[in-house]
Amino acid sequence: MSDGLGEIAVGLAAVARGFHARGWLLGTSGNLSAVVQREPLRMAMSPSGIDKGELQAEQVLTIDEVARVVGQDGGKPSDESLLHIRIVKERGAGAVLHTHSVWNTILSDVFAADGGIKIEGYEMLKGLQGVRTHEHAEWVPIVENSQDMASLADTIGEALNKHKDAHGFLLRRHGLYSWGDNLAQAKRHIEILEFLLETIGRTLRICVQVI
Ligand SMILES: [Zn+2]
Repeated sequence: MSDGLGEIAVGLAAVARGFHARGWLLGTSGNLSAVVQREPLRMAMSPSGIDKGELQAEQVLTIDEVARVVGQDGGKPSDESLLHIRIVKERGAGAVLHTHSVWNTILSDVFAADGGIKIEGYEMLKGLQGVRTHEHAEWVPIVENSQDMASLADTIGEALNKHKDAHGFLLRRHGLYSWGDNLAQAKRHIEILEFLLETIGRTLRICVQVI
């Protein structure tokens, strides 16, 4: 493991354990990546099928731009590696994080017919890079889920092009993706979006109960 990868892998493992403790990466779900080098592309990627609550830096893999493992024996990168690679290429991201929380799963279905969720008027929106006021309206696109990763990567590429200001998107009945210039920013974006989605979900529940 190169020095650059080592530090990044330690960071990814720490974020994985923290997100797992919040219930966002249960049952080996979710995945995390960060760019190690851009030319040629090398990314640190969480392995497939590993409990994220116990992820160790040594288990983090290095992949190339077609999601092949580079320079390590054993270990299989996440099935969703191609989606991470597409986000890095489309957004110039330095890190990509993907969570499977209960609230993001519920809302990705409830709002699927609208093609996305508009979030506006919340102070926490200011945690998203470039957002200066609670009056900001954030559109979180919802993309239909698929097991065909190459095709799903193309669909996500189209959604990212269509919604250039989006800080994240949802896969229907699946989970949330967000990213950042670096791991700290990506982690912050996931925390902000998870907070806002849970707030919307809980608000809807209260309103239904009142009615
Ligand atoms: Zn997933």
